[in-house]
Amino acid sequence: MTATSETILSLKHLQKSFGEHQVLRDISLDIKKGEIATIIGPSGGGKSTTLRCINLLEEPTSGEITFHGENVLASSYNRNIYRAKVGMVFQQFDLFENKNVLANCMVGQELVLKRAKEEARQIALQNLEKVGMAQYINARPSQLSGGQQQRVAIARAISMDPEILLFDEPTSALDPEMVGEVLSVMQNLANTGLTMIIVTHEMAFARDISDQIFFISDGIIAEQGKPDQLFNHPQNEKTTKFLSNFQ
Ligand code: ADP
Ligand code: MG
Repeated sequence: MTATSETILSLKHLQKSFGEHQVLRDISLDIKKGEIATIIGPSGGGKSTTLRCINLLEEPTSGEITFHGENVLASSYNRNIYRAKVGMVFQQFDLFENKNVLANCMVGQELVLKRAKEEARQIALQNLEKVGMAQYINARPSQLSGGQQQRVAIARAISMDPEILLFDEPTSALDPEMVGEVLSVMQNLANTGLTMIIVTHEMAFARDISDQIFFISDGIIAEQGKPDQLFNHPQNEKTTKFLSNFQ
């Protein structure tokens, strides 16, 4: 809730097709520094594809992505630096199973950011502390609960000093009793001023945390607005229908 007026990321008329299947038809959005943006919408609507295009796990078919005003899709643009600045937390945690918690949070720092081992270790420890996982540094992912693994995944992501952190349904794979601990870590992160784009089905959380909400359905942003507007005064009947599933 500390959004400034500086737009750091823009999507303009983004389209993405897989073969004949046009998944994103026209996605345009602006994200300001410090903003918490949430993407909601029905399954298959293109939420994950939008995030995956933002961090270039998928190549958009057409349209523009600009980061600090620079064209990310230009052939001259340094994608490695960009990818390090745009972090992602996945539904399935995606930790390295053969590494312990501490190593999971160090490896990217050493390989991508070229940090020395000791510096990487200190940063990893600080971030594991922030997510309440400092006492588990020697554990393997398989020894942890889903909520604990996701908190480690968040510590790993923030150890890369991202400017934007993307979350793709970070609590959807968790048992219900573990959802709260992960949402609470995300709320703490939001309070630090980190820019976040979150795909979630946790509507109460989205309402509380978001500066801006995008409702994506059939590959377009069918509606967008502040939480009060979108949840209490939806303008599009698709939004109303979607939200009625959560009442
Ligand atoms: P959401 O996250 O909103 O549930 P997705 O972005 O995952 O939706 O998917 C939107 C549509 O794109 C779905 O129909 C899905 O099957 C299709 N899709 C996603 N990724 C691929 C892919 N790599 N190849 C082919 N189709 C895909
Ligand atoms: Mg998805």
